[in-house]
Amino acid sequence: MISWKDVVDEASAEVVRSIVRDLLSGVPLRAITANLNEVGIEAPLGGAWITSSVRKLAIRDLNVGIRRHGKNTYPGAWESIVDVGDHAKVKALLADPKRRTQKAAARTHLLTFGIGKCGVCDGVLVVSRKGPKGKKTSLYVCQDPGCVGRREEWVDELVVATVCARLSRPDAFAIFENDDVEAEAARERVAGLRARLDDAADAYASGLIDTEQLARITAQIRPVMEVAERQARPAVAVPAVVQDLILATDIRVAWGSLEISQQRAVLDALRIEVVINRARGGPGFKPESISIKWPE
Ligand SMILES: [Zn+2]
Repeated sequence: MISWKDVVDEASAEVVRSIVRDLLSGVPLRAITANLNEVGIEAPLGGAWITSSVRKLAIRDLNVGIRRHGKNTYPGAWESIVDVGDHAKVKALLADPKRRTQKAAARTHLLTFGIGKCGVCDGVLVVSRKGPKGKKTSLYVCQDPGCVGRREEWVDELVVATVCARLSRPDAFAIFENDDVEAEAARERVAGLRARLDDAADAYASGLIDTEQLARITAQIRPVMEVAERQARPAVAVPAVVQDLILATDIRVAWGSLEISQQRAVLDALRIEVVINRARGGPGFKPESISIKWPE
């Protein structure tokens, strides 16, 4: 009998640790839940595990020895069973993207509050409505009047196009990790397996193999590829919103369905820096006057 209460219990502590370990190595919550049921570990409330109970167990502060009652926290009766850093990562990973702080929800522009910068004085950008009545447009302007200003929709479009192009490249996950040799090898395996699937599809299309042969080849490759794909995921916790975006079939459509606060979270995760420099020449948008960078 495993105890899930506020007492030290090695068996339950080990289950919690394994959940945290799996989550941080990229195993989906659903797969972890299925596995717990498969190996027959008893759920905290008895019966089968469901994803929400796994989630709750993974993010509870008791795992790092903190008990919470209302707004107050105090030390739990058991010691920390999960590394404090890992605990923070898991909480960030499982944070509901829909749940936003009011402050974040109030942000209605992509590049304000420090994501964009003025190229003249390094100041933050604010949005200003300018133009004749009835034909007003929104501009990003430096907080210090007179530095720079640029049409908001033009700058946003350039940033979104640049980010989506980068995130749709096969090595998109690489931006978010430092040095992960094993994951890199797994990514190469995935690419090789995908090429074999493509070859088989081509062979089928040109009549070299029949449906049955195609099905057999596909059935052989798919499971191996699934394993490699899991290993190819970075060990560091890439926020769920970024993962969803990278794995989306149409990244621009996926981007468009995000709320501004989520889009800003993606830009934050990229550690992007957008600088609006003074533009030379006449009117019209000069994309080269905008610098978009992130550490790779
Ligand atoms: Zn400025």
